[in-house]
Formats: sequence, structure tokens, C-alpha cells
Amino acid sequence: MKILVINAGSSSIKYQLMELEDVHHSTLLAAGLVEKIGEPTGRIIHRKYAGGPESKFVEEEHLPTHHEGMSRVVALLTDPDKGVIRNASEVQGVGHRVLNCGEVYSDTVRVDAKVKDTIRDFFLLGPLHNPPNLMGIEVAEEFFPHAPQVAVFDTAFHQTMPPKAFLYAVPYEWYTKFRLRKYGFHGTSHKFIAQETAEYLGKPLDQTSLISLHLGNGCSMAAIRNGKCADTTMGVTPLEGLVMGTRSGDIDPAAIPYIMGQTGMDAAQVVNALNKQSGLKGICGVNDMREVVEAAGGGNAQAQTALDIFAYRIQKYIGAYLAVVPGLDALVFTAGIGENSASAREHICRGLEHLGIRLDPVKNHAPSRAPREIQQDGVPLKILVLPTNEELQIALETKQIIEGHNG
Ligand code: AMP
Repeated sequence: MKILVINAGSSSIKYQLMELEDVHHSTLLAAGLVEKIGEPTGRIIHRKYAGGPESKFVEEEHLPTHHEGMSRVVALLTDPDKGVIRNASEVQGVGHRVLNCGEVYSDTVRVDAKVKDTIRDFFLLGPLHNPPNLMGIEVAEEFFPHAPQVAVFDTAFHQTMPPKAFLYAVPYEWYTKFRLRKYGFHGTSHKFIAQETAEYLGKPLDQTSLISLHLGNGCSMAAIRNGKCADTTMGVTPLEGLVMGTRSGDIDPAAIPYIMGQTGMDAAQVVNALNKQSGLKGICGVNDMREVVEAAGGGNAQAQTALDIFAYRIQKYIGAYLAVVPGLDALVFTAGIGENSASAREHICRGLEHLGIRLDPVKNHAPSRAPREIQQDGVPLKILVLPTNEELQIALETKQIIEGHNG
């Protein structure tokens, strides 16, 4: 079945066209990124993986709206040279990444008027993502009118958290009236990792417990008990929790009015700085973990401090989640940093030996892209490195919905 996966941002559309049977039988046919929509010069980077040698095409042109962007995507996918299908009707389903559906859905759903209303209803709780996500759906409906549109929510996997985990200890009507609570994000990745962990360990998912560490540009952890999310680090927005590339993670909220008073910034500007100028970048000036590790290795004290703060926050959450998840099977690293940075993994695990977390330095540094375990021989608690694949998970769930196995 051919499934198109779309992640529409405010000025971008990321897409992947996949042919898939199941998690083990999928082929990426083409993928790309449309960016700078609405700017004077838009850009499309399109990669073709099937029907000839792998090739990359870059186009620049003015793309006033997502409509023109998607129109170029369809033209590229169906182009005799650059494309991989003859016409748009070959696409049998479109899976959309959607940020937040609150408590309305705890699983993937086929898009209808009610689903669109729900996405709209959560614009205020996902102001940067929900509006373009909905736009992506509406544009895809135009270009693929025959194909079911499916919404895969970043918050859905976390809906199993109990109230003690998702409620903030604030006036209760802030929750009942304003829907203020922890939602958590990266749910599609944490769910994929839970399934992959169960499969790697040869256990049923509902008997698999893990701490999932999604460490990429954005970072979050999930405590997963018997296959279900028990707690996660991100909150009502993705700002809470871990130190990230440019996000502060946890901070005393009273710091916000204090910094407003000191700088003259308004609340939105301070929150923007906490999202975009903080984290690794705030401490040492760069947000890419490769650069932070290199600078720290070269004796840059600020970079070392950034690395220390990043790792220490994760260590504290590991301690907390060990209390939340009894009978833990594995600590699982994933995403850009989690999969690729042996230094970050080493820094995080160092000093946690008393908790049964014992990294094998040789296994940790052995270069590999495959799912693997990196704990010392004979230690019961596994430390796994598993590649995440949110697009594949979205495509699989879209296929399940179309086939009527779900929702
Ligand atoms: P993601 O958001 O999952 O694509 O992760 C992106 C981040 O992963 C980048 O900003 C880097 O900080 C990090 N990353 C990717 N490759 C490496 C690597 N080889 N070593 C360290 N960090 C890496």
C-alpha cells in the first residue's frame, strides 16, 4: 500500500512516500522538504529513492501558500524523471502528524469534520503546529480526494498517564476550564520505541517496561509501564522537562516575571527566549550536540557545563522514572543524539551504576546504525540504542486505519 506521510509546519511541508506491508516490509520511495512557504523564494528539496539511482532535486520558486507547495510536491512525485508514481490516485492514504488533540483522542483517527474541529479547538494549546497541521490536511484533501486522510497525534500515546502524573498542582479550574495539564509530545516516537523494545526483547508489549529517551533537537523521556505511558517529561507545551538544543526545560515559573522586570521583555518574549535561545545554546552558544561535544573535548568550559546540565537533568528523570516503573526491562536511547552520540550516552550513564545502569564503553562506542544493546555483559538492566522512525509509525497507523484494524 502506498502511503504519503505529511508533517506540515508554519512555512514548511515535510513528506515521505512509502510502500509498505508492515514494520519489517516498507520501502521509502521518495521524500522531501518544502520550506520558506510565504517568503519571496521558497525551496523544495526532493529525493527519489526508487525506480533508478537515488537522486536529489532542488528547486527554488515563490510558493505563496501551502497549496502551491503541495502542488509542487504532487508534480515532483508524478514527474516522469523525478517522480515515483504515475498519478496522485496511486496514493492510497495520507497520514498527517498533528501536534495536539488534548484528551479527545487517545489513538490515531481518520479525519472527518469532527476531527478537524478538534484540531481547531486546540489551536491555542498548539499555536505553532495545530494551525499548519490542519492546513496540511485541507491541502492534501484537495490533491488526494480519493485517499483517506488520517491524523496521528503527538499527544495520543501519553493519554494513558494517570491524573497524578498529568495534573499540575494549581487551581483545579485551570484544568477544568482552560484544559491546563501535562499532555506530553513525541508520542509517536515513544510508542514506536516501546513496540521496538518489546520486539527486540522478544516480549509481549503489554509486559514490557522501559524508560524511553528521545534525545534529538527536542528532547523528552517517557516512563512506559507494561507498554503504556505512565509519565513523560514534556508538559502542556514541549518546553517542560529536559534541557534541549534551544529549550530550557524545567524552570521556576517565577523566573519569568523576574526576567520581564529585569529586561523589559513581555511574557511572550521571555517564553520565546526559553524556547529558542536557551538549552545548550543558551549555556554555550551552540545547539548541535556534535559541536557541544567537540568544544567540550577541546577544553571549552562553557560547552562542558552545557553537557553537564544536559546529562544531569536526564539523570534526575531516570531516577524519578525508576521509581515510577517497577520491573524495568530497558533504558532506551533514540533520536539524533540518543542514536548517534556515544559521548552523550556515556555522560548520562556515568555515575548511575548504583541504579543498575552499567554501560559497556566498547559496545557504546562501536559504530552501528542497527538496534543494539550497550550494557555490560551479565547486567540485568538492558541499555538499548534503537533508531526511531516516526514517519514509518505514522504510515503504519494510517494503513491500519484504512484497513479497519483501528479507530
Ligand atoms: P533529531 O531532532 O532527532 O533529528 O536530532 C537532531 C540532533 O541530533 C542534532 O541537532 C544533533 O545535536 C544530534 N546529532 C545528530 N547526529 C549526531 C552525532 N553523530 N553526534 C552527536 N549528536 C548528533
